[in-house]
Amino acid sequence: KPTNLEGVISNAIDTIVQTHESRVKIKRDGVKPDILIPLDEIRIEQVLINFLTNAIKYSPQNNQVIVTTFVDEEEQEVRVSVTDFGIGIPDFKQEAVFNKFYRVEESSLQFQGMGIGLFICSEIIKQHHGNIGVSSKVDEGSTFYFTLPLN
Ligand code: ATP
Ligand code: MG
Repeated sequence: KPTNLEGVISNAIDTIVQTHESRVKIKRDGVKPDILIPLDEIRIEQVLINFLTNAIKYSPQNNQVIVTTFVDEEEQEVRVSVTDFGIGIPDFKQEAVFNKFYRVEESSLQFQGMGIGLFICSEIIKQHHGNIGVSSKVDEGSTFYFTLPLN
């Protein structure tokens, strides 16, 4: 149903801030998407919470996270991304992180997880006819993003 995306994003950030308190600094960047988009509020909030939880978990030395939003009028889509400055993911493993139960070896030794969060995110974004992806560099950080069609 038509939902204000900005509200969904701020709910997700609030939830994360309440859980992690002052340990994490979440910054907003870009124009806030004060627009109505047909979406499942609970599920899109879940995607953001999974992105944010990962961003914090996999960046033990740096607690800065940036949420960027961009409305692309030409492509008729909105793009939401979560950037961290953590351990990063090697190039050739980036596609696999969306697979069920996949975990990057190096990080699974250090951090707990099931390897299911991003798989769920990818299923939810597929149901919304959007795209999901990541760009990342080892020891520099990662940006996970999703897009949603405006109509
Ligand atoms: P959970 O099911 O509890 O979320 P998880 O975090 O291991 O467990 P996913 O969220 O699906 O599972 O992520 C899959 C794998 O991708 C992770 O195990 C980790 O190796 C890698 N990964 C995900 N997000 C990041 C990130 N922000 N930085 C570095 N690696 C990441
Ligand atoms: Mg996870």
